[in-house]
Amino acid sequence: MSPTTDLYKPLSDDFILPSNRDVGGEKHSDPDASCTYLCGNSLGPLSKSSERLVHEELDAWRHRAVEGHFSHPYNRPWTKITDHVHPLLAEVVGAKEKEVVCMGTLTTNLHLMMTSFYTPTPNRFKILCEAKAFPSDQYAFASQVLLHGYAPADAIIEVSPREGEFHLREEDILDIIDREGDTIALVLFSGVQYYTGQLFPMASITEKAKSKGCICGWDLAHGVGNVPLSLHDWDVDFAVWCTYKYLNSGPGGIAGLFIHEKWNDEKKPMQAGWWGHELSTRFAMPPTFQPIPGAQGFQQSNPSALTIASLLGSLQIYKSVGMMQPVRERSLKLTGALESFLKKSRYFVPLEQAIKHDSQGRLGFTIITPSDPNMRGSQLSLLFLPQGSEVMRNVFKSLNSYGVIGDKREPDVIRLTPAPLYGSLKDCEEGAAWLEKAFEEQEA
Ligand SMILES: *Cc1c(COP(=O)(O)O)cnc(C)c1O
Repeated sequence: MSPTTDLYKPLSDDFILPSNRDVGGEKHSDPDASCTYLCGNSLGPLSKSSERLVHEELDAWRHRAVEGHFSHPYNRPWTKITDHVHPLLAEVVGAKEKEVVCMGTLTTNLHLMMTSFYTPTPNRFKILCEAKAFPSDQYAFASQVLLHGYAPADAIIEVSPREGEFHLREEDILDIIDREGDTIALVLFSGVQYYTGQLFPMASITEKAKSKGCICGWDLAHGVGNVPLSLHDWDVDFAVWCTYKYLNSGPGGIAGLFIHEKWNDEKKPMQAGWWGHELSTRFAMPPTFQPIPGAQGFQQSNPSALTIASLLGSLQIYKSVGMMQPVRERSLKLTGALESFLKKSRYFVPLEQAIKHDSQGRLGFTIITPSDPNMRGSQLSLLFLPQGSEVMRNVFKSLNSYGVIGDKREPDVIRLTPAPLYGSLKDCEEGAAWLEKAFEEQEA
């Protein structure tokens, strides 16, 4: 059976997961077995391939020192090391190679892109985003509107779910763009919402935003490497992402951005740095900036070869398994399996019931991620009941003691993600079984 059909076998066996012992899973009967890692939405694990490539860069540094910029024992001279990453990154996000660049960090890239693409006028100055966006994005939006002399309360429109709901309805988002689009400068949602795991209909939101003359950007922190993307064909203006979540580049890894090629003439880097200068003359140190056309002209600094190497290792694994289509296919199966195991739990409360009867104080959990597989990536977000109690924290601690790693979001949510590259059906079974046990401990 192929790894896409045999769900017990990882799609790639290149990843190295911590053991139960490593993560404090002292109650697990097999301390040396791999832990149940359901946290790829937060930080992907190390792969052998990333480890090897980072070692090669250390070796290049040791043996070539500064010469490594031009002459490299593994044929990745540092001045051109990103050439190895860009084609793969472009494939992951559905872009042309010249439309992407790996550089910087997500929040910095978001500011950079907003400097070029958020150009408010007295009649069109608003930013449309989802309510409760990731805090860094909220801070970036607020500081950008302030920079232009607007008050966040006037300039930022947040779309909230309807009363008693957790997701945004597509029709509600499109409707707001229809009604208010003439005053909106920038529509910027996350591709996959970090808290609820909702996958937004990126193609239709982008299309609607464009039809009203708005710029449309995306924060793909939770989308890249998780769901298939077609940034070029969707006619997205720009996108930014980090690579340490689904793309497994390691803590604080190098980030990325996309700029549609149609902007090449009009949008030039406004915060230029030497690394965005044409490579052919960069080291002649000319006084005037001559940018590389497209996204790569937005580079500012000499990027870290070590973080590029670790990202490259993971991207090579994506390539070896056939890129996003098989990854998505397997992800749908695994997340569907985790969902059905969880729904069999004695403690599972259907969402409608949780909303209505929460006050009855029943111990349990519901799932706030959309149940429609087309409206989510690999993550499921569990909301613990009764809300505002200690249940979530206690269950989380208990899960850790069995070697189950998810991540908690205060006050009541635990996110569990069977990441398709290294996750398996066993992780889904164990995650659900240990969750049951954790609840039983709460009742004891
Ligand atoms: C993870 C995440 C970030 C993190 O930003 P960094 O600049 O990489 O620290 C920002 N925004 C969203 C939506 C995220 O999910």
